[in-house]
Amino acid sequence: MTDINVNIPGSNLSGVKNRILVLSGKGGVGKSTVAVNLAASLAEKGFRTGLMDVDIHGPSIPTMLGISGAAAVGSEEGITPIESHGISVISISFFVENIDEAVIWRGPMKAGAIKQFVNEVNWGDLDYLVIDAPPGTGDEPLSVVQEIRDNIYAVIVTTPQVVAERDVRKSLNFCRKVNVPVAGIIENMSGFVCPHCNEITNVFNTGAGIRLSDEFHVPFLGAIPIEPAIGKMCDEGTPWITAMHDSTTAKVMNSAVDSIVDYIKENKK
Ligand code: ADP
Repeated sequence: MTDINVNIPGSNLSGVKNRILVLSGKGGVGKSTVAVNLAASLAEKGFRTGLMDVDIHGPSIPTMLGISGAAAVGSEEGITPIESHGISVISISFFVENIDEAVIWRGPMKAGAIKQFVNEVNWGDLDYLVIDAPPGTGDEPLSVVQEIRDNIYAVIVTTPQVVAERDVRKSLNFCRKVNVPVAGIIENMSGFVCPHCNEITNVFNTGAGIRLSDEFHVPFLGAIPIEPAIGKMCDEGTPWITAMHDSTTAKVMNSAVDSIVDYIKENKK
């Protein structure tokens, strides 16, 4: 592991206007996919955007942005984020010598790394910092909320079935408990659109996103179907929202991003 302790007092998020924490109670629902494409969409709309990957055990952001081999550069002035697709990115994988090696850290070490991501990275002036948390309501999202107290909003990702709904409900309760306003819920993997006849097949049960939005009185931002090209582009390191700009799924995601921007504008204290 490369030493990330550069100790720069005063280098923090003071130039970052809005912080968006992407959460899900369940793994594999497309939370990182949403985080990457939310950031890419914001950057494409002309906002200065950063992406902080606080998934310490399974960082997938670098792969999804084509920078999995990158190494962070630290100096007296702090740590410089890696630039990709117009986004300033920090991930634990930029600090490990072998990206296939398991990071075996307990809570306090993870909290320490997140503290450094917040306080010692030269984020500069940003309109939005998107933060991708690992699934669940454990150490990482809690550390983020403790370190970033102001102007932080959550976006919740679920899939349509009851099994995901149960776990994602915990994420919504977490936001309530720690007083983080929820800008909305995205339902991902919501049906499969046949590339030949355009008929939608519901692979899972339906409706978790709408049900949770009604129950918690938070906005429903849209439903993104399973689209094979999305998985392919994630693996290739290209955000689908920019590469397939005119596709139905990219349009849904772009409109979700517009709703998030509007929500933050309207609810900013
Ligand atoms: P999580 O962060 O919730 O664990 P990921 O974002 O890593 O989930 O997504 C899991 C896998 O599913 C990835 O390979 C990703 O490319 C793929 N994926 C996510 N959303 C979609 C979608 N709408 N259509 C097709 N593949 C998707």
